Amino acid sequence: MKSVCVYCGSSSGARPLYVEAARAFGRALVEHDLALIYGGGKVGLMGTIADTVMEAGGRAIGVIPELLVSKEIGHRGLTELHVVPDMHHRKKMMANLSDAFVAMPGGVGTLEELFEAYTWAQLGYHQKPVALLNIDGFYDPLIAMLEHTVQEGFMRQTYLDMLQFDSDPTALIDKLQRHQPIVADKWVQTRNAV
Ligand code: AMP
Repeated sequence: MKSVCVYCGSSSGARPLYVEAARAFGRALVEHDLALIYGGGKVGLMGTIADTVMEAGGRAIGVIPELLVSKEIGHRGLTELHVVPDMHHRKKMMANLSDAFVAMPGGVGTLEELFEAYTWAQLGYHQKPVALLNIDGFYDPLIAMLEHTVQEGFMRQTYLDMLQFDSDPTALIDKLQRHQPIVADKWVQTRNAV
């Protein structure tokens, strides 16, 4: 594993612990010689993790659509900043450059990107690990929703097990490095199935 795609908020969150966690994760990536692949913005947790990686002597590669360069204030101090035509190009390039996907706390943009990487794994488009950095239980309600989804027969337990999570950056990176791709049929057998 050489690079990790980090999805995270273009905001910094309501409590300082989110910024502290973004710094800790950025430092852990550099300590493990992992490049950061992210959305290329200078604001929120995105900016914090990129700044931390650069300050620690690591590699931070941003991918940002033209329309968002000004809104998210494209980060000009990165190892590489790719300005792409639109969101589809951004997500595809971020995925191609990355060996793993991690969502830190964020808003709907973060959730959308997380679920894209997760559903692509479920469908077998890639075999890369997908994980949550579960800072102070931020993702507990999402994990509970996914457990409910399994209980109600809309998702296999196997795919829930595929989603890694941890509150500690180093422990999470360790889980990513030990990831074994899962090969299973996505389709859930229901009572109505023929
Ligand atoms: P947010 O978590 O909403 O602060 O957004 C975090 C990142 O997700 C930012 O880089 C946004 O540009 C990006 N984003 C926002 N909306 C979307 C979307 N519909 N699809 C993919 N990324 C998005």
